[in-house]
Amino acid sequence: MAKAKVYLVGAGPGDVELVTLKGYRLICQADVLLYDHLIGPQLIDFARHDAEKISVGKFAGRHTMPQSEINKLLIEKAAAGKTVVRLKGGDPYLFGRGGEEAEACVEAGIDFEVVPGITSAFAAACYGGIPVTHRDCTSSVAVVTGHRRDEKEIEIPNAGTLIFLMSVVNIGTIVDSVLKAGWPSDTKMAAVEHGTCYDQRVITGTLTDFVSKVEQAKLRTPAIFIVGKVVEMQEKLDWFTKKPNILVLGNHPARYGYLGNIVYRRVIDCVPIDDYSDADKVIEKIGRFDWIVFTSVNGAKYLMDRLFAMNFDARALASAKIAAIGKTTAHRLKDFGLIADIVPSTESSAGLLEEFRKLDMTEKKVLLPQALVSSDQLPAGLIDMQAIVEQMPVYKTVEIDPGDIDFDFIDQILFTSGSTVRAFVNRFGKVPENVKSYCLGPPTLKEAQKFNIDAQLLPGSSCYKRQDNDNIE
Ligand code: SAH
Repeated sequence: MAKAKVYLVGAGPGDVELVTLKGYRLICQADVLLYDHLIGPQLIDFARHDAEKISVGKFAGRHTMPQSEINKLLIEKAAAGKTVVRLKGGDPYLFGRGGEEAEACVEAGIDFEVVPGITSAFAAACYGGIPVTHRDCTSSVAVVTGHRRDEKEIEIPNAGTLIFLMSVVNIGTIVDSVLKAGWPSDTKMAAVEHGTCYDQRVITGTLTDFVSKVEQAKLRTPAIFIVGKVVEMQEKLDWFTKKPNILVLGNHPARYGYLGNIVYRRVIDCVPIDDYSDADKVIEKIGRFDWIVFTSVNGAKYLMDRLFAMNFDARALASAKIAAIGKTTAHRLKDFGLIADIVPSTESSAGLLEEFRKLDMTEKKVLLPQALVSSDQLPAGLIDMQAIVEQMPVYKTVEIDPGDIDFDFIDQILFTSGSTVRAFVNRFGKVPENVKSYCLGPPTLKEAQKFNIDAQLLPGSSCYKRQDNDNIE
C-alpha cells in the first residue's frame, strides 16, 4: 500500500458489519488509526497489532480534541510517511467535519481519499423500522442538524420526512420550529437511540407529546429524530428490536446469526506461550513422530509458525501421518501444504479416538500440538491404546476485557466453550436473572453448571462433544 496518505473513512452507524469493504480493508492496513468516540470498539480490533491507535473523541473525563489539533495530528502522522486512517462515525461528510479534514490535507499537500460510510441518519431510521421515504407517504427527505445553541429557531427545510441529528439537547426548540413551519400537531415523530446497536431504543409520539415522551424514557445520546408520515409505519416495520439479543463470547459469532441479533464480545484470545524452548526441542526431532494430531486451528497455526521460525518447512512433517479434529482445522492445514489423513465425522476428541481405535496405535509416537491448558480426554484415550503421547503446548488462551455490557438489553448468552464460561464469571460474576443461558455442547454445559449457571444446551448442539480446550474450530 502506498505510504504517506490520509484516508477519511466512514465507520458506519454502530453495527460493526455496516462498515464498507473498502473501509474494512483500510482499517486492517493502517499504520495509524484516529477515531471518534462513537466508533464501535470492534472496528478498532481489526487494526494491526502494531498500528498506532489514537482516540480523538470524548471519553471519560476528557473532552473531544479540538478540530484544529485533529487536523494537525493527521498531517503530522501522514507527513512522517504513515498511512493514516481517520475513522469517522457514519459518513465522513455528513455533519462529521470530514470536509474540514480534507481541506487541511489539501492545504498541507498531503494526498487523501474519502471512503463514504452508511450514515446514522438513514441506518438508525432503517433499524428503527422507519423507511425514510415511501410512495404512500413522501418522496423527499431532509437531514437537518439540531445543534444550533445560539439560535432560537431551527430552519426547517421543505421536505416530507425530516431527520434531525445532534439534537437531543435541543428537542424542545426542534418541535417548536417544526410546528411553526406549519406541520400539524398530530404528526408522528420518533427518536432512534443508539441506532443499529444492541441497546437501540425507539420512542414514538406526536409533535404534541413527544417532548414529554422522551423525557419519560430518559433519552440517551446518540439519537436521531424523525418527523413525518413515514413514522406511522414504525410498528409494522420494526424488524430489529423484535429479534432477541444474544451475547456470544467465543469465536465465529457469524455462525449463530440465525438465532437473533448477535452481540459479539470477545473474552478470550489465543497468544504465543512465553517460552518455546521445550517446543523447539520437539520440533528439532519432529521427524520421529508417527502421528501429529491437530485439535484446533490454533494448534496448526502456532506449530507451523514456530516451525517456520526455526527455518523448517512442511517437509519436516513428511514422515508423519496427520489427523485433524474437524474440517476447519483440516482446511487450515491445507494452507500449510498439509492434507489430513484423518478427519472424524464427529468433530470431537471422542470422534478422533473412535477413528484411532480402528488402527493399531501400539507404540505409535503421537504428537499433540495444543494449548497450554488442555483437556486430558484425547491423550488419555491414546495412552489407553498403548500409544506414546507427547503433549506440546504451542499457544495459550488469555482473558481479555470485553468492555461494558448493558444486560438490560441482553436476552440470551451463548457460551461456546468452558473458557468463555470461566472468563464470563471472572468478569461479570453472575448471569443476570433476565438473561437465559445456552451452552454449545455437553462439556461447556458441565462447566456452566459448576458455576451454578442455570443453562441449557443450545438446541441441536448436543453433538458438540469437542474437548474443552477453547481453541475452537
Ligand atoms: N457523520 C455521522 C454524523 C455525525 S454527527 C453520520 O453520518 O452518522 C453525530 C450525530 O449523529 C449524533 O448526535 C446523532 O444524532 C447521530 N448518530 C450517530 N450515531 C448514531 C446512532 N448509532 N444512533 C442514532 N444516532 C446516531
